[in-house]
Amino acid sequence: MSRPRLLVNGPWARGQVLALKGRDARRLTRVLRLEKGDILSIFDGQGMEGGARILELRGWAEVKLEVLWVERARAESPLKIHLVQGLPKWPKMELVVQKVTELGVEEVCGLLARRSVPWSGRTEKWKRLERIVEEASRQCGRANVPRLSGPWKLEEFLQYQREKPGARLLLWEGERINSLKAALETWEIPPEEVWLAVGPEGGFDEEEVKVMTRWGYTPVSMGPRILRTETASMAVVAIAQYLWGDMGDQASGMP
Ligand code: SAH
Repeated sequence: MSRPRLLVNGPWARGQVLALKGRDARRLTRVLRLEKGDILSIFDGQGMEGGARILELRGWAEVKLEVLWVERARAESPLKIHLVQGLPKWPKMELVVQKVTELGVEEVCGLLARRSVPWSGRTEKWKRLERIVEEASRQCGRANVPRLSGPWKLEEFLQYQREKPGARLLLWEGERINSLKAALETWEIPPEEVWLAVGPEGGFDEEEVKVMTRWGYTPVSMGPRILRTETASMAVVAIAQYLWGDMGDQASGMP
């Protein structure tokens, strides 16, 4: 069984003693039932991994850890993927952010598309998404926690991303000429960064496709079938990761 892993906000250094309280302390003592001397993996959410030993347990409420080693994480892809997700109904968004975190995205930009179904209690739901992304990073062995940005109106989003580098693709089921494959093959040198826009259940409307095309997003077809939004997001992230990231030719090498 792989070593227990915990997100511990950094920075931390070898030899440092960290005091954990609250939810984190309870997770170690009550959920994982760790004891003094046990070793666990820690990650800071910004790309650093480490190992720590439990020095002291004060009931469930406080745990003292000693950092034993620190290293740069290996589970990060060289390709920075920004998934621009037209907000779907709430349960689908939970699924999408969890799966694309495992697939290695750098950022999920929540887009309030015209056909997005508004969420009740959006603030709490957004916080829940942040916890899902943290938990998925922990589970899959990432030391980076992807950024969740938005929810944006289209114009706000386009301003937010305007100076940022990267290839830009807009997944559009109405595209009759440009296939995803053809678009990907136009890049002789694989891009280091890519922005992938996927519509909500109802899709992007014609006006949104026009505006995003004007802002440099190439509309591409993902083939003859109409994919659900969550299928399209996971598929296109996996394809990009396979072609230009670290899912095609790297043995996992996980401990
Ligand atoms: N309302 C549309 C489906 C939208 S599917 C309809 O029923 O016809 C949700 C999103 O998945 C779309 O906005 C698009 O971004 C993506 N998608 C689904 N199938 C696709 C395909 N064959 N090619 C490109 N994008 C696709």
